[in-house]
Amino acid sequence: MATGKRYLDSRKGWRAREQGHSAKNAYAPAVERVAVIMAMEAEAAPLRDALGATPIEVPVWASTLPVRLAVAPAVGGRPEVLLAVNGRDPTTGVDCIGSTAAALTTQVALTYGPIDLVVTAGTAGGWHRSNAEIGEVFVAWPHIACHDRRIDLPGFDQFGRGEIATADLRELADALGCRLGIVTTGDSLDESPTDRERILASGAEVKEMEAAAVAWVAQLHGVPVTAVKAITDLVESPVATATQFTANLAAAADALQATMMKLIDQLGDQ
Ligand code: SAH
Repeated sequence: MATGKRYLDSRKGWRAREQGHSAKNAYAPAVERVAVIMAMEAEAAPLRDALGATPIEVPVWASTLPVRLAVAPAVGGRPEVLLAVNGRDPTTGVDCIGSTAAALTTQVALTYGPIDLVVTAGTAGGWHRSNAEIGEVFVAWPHIACHDRRIDLPGFDQFGRGEIATADLRELADALGCRLGIVTTGDSLDESPTDRERILASGAEVKEMEAAAVAWVAQLHGVPVTAVKAITDLVESPVATATQFTANLAAAADALQATMMKLIDQLGDQ
């Protein structure tokens, strides 16, 4: 069980804020409990299998939500993992992708028990202009933001952009062969001309539909957050995003699973 909240020091990595944890050393204690938040069952299934995670009941207050929880106990140096998946929409039967369900799922995960790090994991679009490749895995740095919340009012413009700093996992990402980049969230799969302008101005390199919502809830709880996203499609490709997505989903989910397993193992050694 995690014993206290951790924060991230950009120079030294994870450090304990509280004493009494079972750290391997005083400067870089192990992460003991990780929550992984995912949107689609097809993204989550390979990771759930690889972790050997067992489904558990959601708390009573959340029993009307489609969220599904599974737990993989700590093994060796690997932290305990709470895997929370958005689940299926009861009306349409499809996975509840997007920010609304992602926020609810994160709230459920973070009220389940103490968590040291939230990881929003899934698939995403990338761009030829930043040399992204299908199947490549990105780790969010230095922040996650929103591109489709345009509110031209003082204060609300900043709230709309929703920039949230990510945990500093640069060294770990590098060791795993992941690229770093700003992850940008919107509630549409396509990229409207307005989105395009805003994303270009923001310098984002990874486009998806959940990370900023997950990060916002994690921030409300004071828990560090990162995003790990495997590229299923290239946004400016002549092939429709949905077509690329469907063709590449299984391969990207496998790449995501492989990276996530290594990342989770390494977090236990941080
Ligand atoms: N049409 C798909 C639905 C997937 S929507 C289907 O047939 O099942 C896209 C999901 O993958 C979202 O959860 C989102 O986070 C991610 N995603 C992948 N590529 C994306 C892109 N180019 N833009 C936005 N989200 C993307």
